[in-house]
Amino acid sequence: MSSNKLQETLRMLVTANHILHFHGAVDGFGHISVRHPENPDIYIMCGYMPPALVENVDDLIEYYVDKSDPVKPDAKRGYSERFIHGEIFKRYPDVQCVVHSHAEAVLPYATSTVPMLPMYHMGGFMGKEVPVWDIVPLYDDHYQQDMLVNNERLGASLAATFSSSASSAVPEKNVVLMKRHGYTTHGKDIPTAVYRTIYTLINAGIQTNATLLQAAAKEGGLVDTASVHGLSERHARDCQKMTEATQDKSWRLWSREVEASPLYRNNV
Ligand SMILES: [Zn+2]
Repeated sequence: MSSNKLQETLRMLVTANHILHFHGAVDGFGHISVRHPENPDIYIMCGYMPPALVENVDDLIEYYVDKSDPVKPDAKRGYSERFIHGEIFKRYPDVQCVVHSHAEAVLPYATSTVPMLPMYHMGGFMGKEVPVWDIVPLYDDHYQQDMLVNNERLGASLAATFSSSASSAVPEKNVVLMKRHGYTTHGKDIPTAVYRTIYTLINAGIQTNATLLQAAAKEGGLVDTASVHGLSERHARDCQKMTEATQDKSWRLWSREVEASPLYRNNV
């Protein structure tokens, strides 16, 4: 690993690991990857370790997009769920960053039949409704059915859920919920994917609170209906344009937050 461009990408990747932890999107589990800036057939993510503790280049592993095999045969242990990343990079050439999270605020929408909706302008990137992917129908009987996306076939199925047609090489969806597991997002760069991950989490909390408030208010006779509505398709689309033009502010703040915390070290 060399060159200024690569070093800047790796430094951002380490910072992104810290930001995702700081905002509760990952704990000991969950992960972020980035496509190699000079070789689109390779992606990079940290090895088997908590994202908050990623610190330098030695903590990172390069994988081939094709089969998610490590570039160095003697690479240390990596994440079994790297196939989430490899298969999304394989199917969508424009995707540069992928994040997978089990954030607690989002899990109610991955474990119930309540649709996840974009509740406000910052969540417009979610689209009118977030698709839910279920691993269970894909299981063979002999397989350890632990919900993990730990092979190419499972990863390819998840990746396909980001687009509406089998042949599309463009991900029309920016977030996919994974039933009884978590969610996955992507972006054209690291800040975009991190933004989507964190605001999916915030949006979920808002939806839960709005739903509980509305139901309680109906029960208490304050309002006539318990229904809650998200952004329309048009509003979601236009809000996404707006946030993509302004999300650099979030990245600057979030980077400073983790720089200021002694827990996180970035020595790339
Ligand atoms: Zn997972």
